[in-house]
Amino acid sequence: MLSIKNVHKRFGNVHAMNNINLDLKPGLFGLLGPNGAGKSTLMRTLATLQNPDQGEITLNGVDITKEPDIMRSVLGYLPQDFGVYPRMSAEALLDHIAVLKGINNAKERKDQVLSLLKNVNLLTHKSASVATYSGGMRQRFGVAQALLGDPKVLIVDEPTAGLDPFERQRFLDLLSEAGEEKIIILSTHIVEDVRDLCADMAIMGQGEIVARGAPEALIDKIRGRVWRKKIEKSEVDAVKEKYDGRVLATRRLMGGVVISVLSDNAPEAGFEQVDPNLEDAYFAHLYKIV
Ligand code: ADP
Repeated sequence: MLSIKNVHKRFGNVHAMNNINLDLKPGLFGLLGPNGAGKSTLMRTLATLQNPDQGEITLNGVDITKEPDIMRSVLGYLPQDFGVYPRMSAEALLDHIAVLKGINNAKERKDQVLSLLKNVNLLTHKSASVATYSGGMRQRFGVAQALLGDPKVLIVDEPTAGLDPFERQRFLDLLSEAGEEKIIILSTHIVEDVRDLCADMAIMGQGEIVARGAPEALIDKIRGRVWRKKIEKSEVDAVKEKYDGRVLATRRLMGGVVISVLSDNAPEAGFEQVDPNLEDAYFAHLYKIV
């Protein structure tokens, strides 16, 4: 169990983590939030790359801000920006990272490296330099390096940004196969990543956790209160102003705009009540209008 209690972090006057509280059990946990919400700050803190200003983070009862090695010995981490890709074959680079992770037995290392390359579908590209990989291949390589040493905690930060739909699906399949006994934290700003994959999630905005629960439970909180209407582009500003503070989204659709509004009662004529989706729930919680 990973337990985060009253965690704060400030950068100047930016409150990047504002009283974060979360208890995480094994399984896939989705942390959804817009850019700048504080997700990477939280991921880096959990990965023991930086300390919180305040608060406590315990892994099975041990405070990892005081004993970071306890976390590091069971952690697999794919940072948002994996960074440098040296001109080195995937197999050699993984082997090198495995040495850094303390897998000393050469035979064990080779077996793990090859088995991971197979799992992430890169075995046929094992001799190619990682520098020549496509975005999707790099992310799959990133998961392979994170999975070296069979970590109990796996943190992946915005892994699907920049992937095409096919690569994204392949990457998400890989995560869901990574094992139910691990605590896996997927940070993302893409609603579909969480919707398709996570039984448990939280929404983060401006340094705070604004909602936590199963995606269906978060959707249930707005059921019966989401209305949509297709309007002309020229009407958007007026309609937005009329429902100020209750507009969930406006989306272009075939020459017009579909506007979604959260309301207990039927808005003006033409609005239809709809079955809400996770995106509606995301915005309703993020704007704190649930
Ligand atoms: P997210 O991952 O959700 O996009 P971040 O955790 O990267 O959010 O950033 C949260 C806020 O903290 C942002 O306003 C960002 O500019 C600020 N921030 C993050 N890291 C630093 C840093 N090292 N120095 C100064 N400000 C930072």
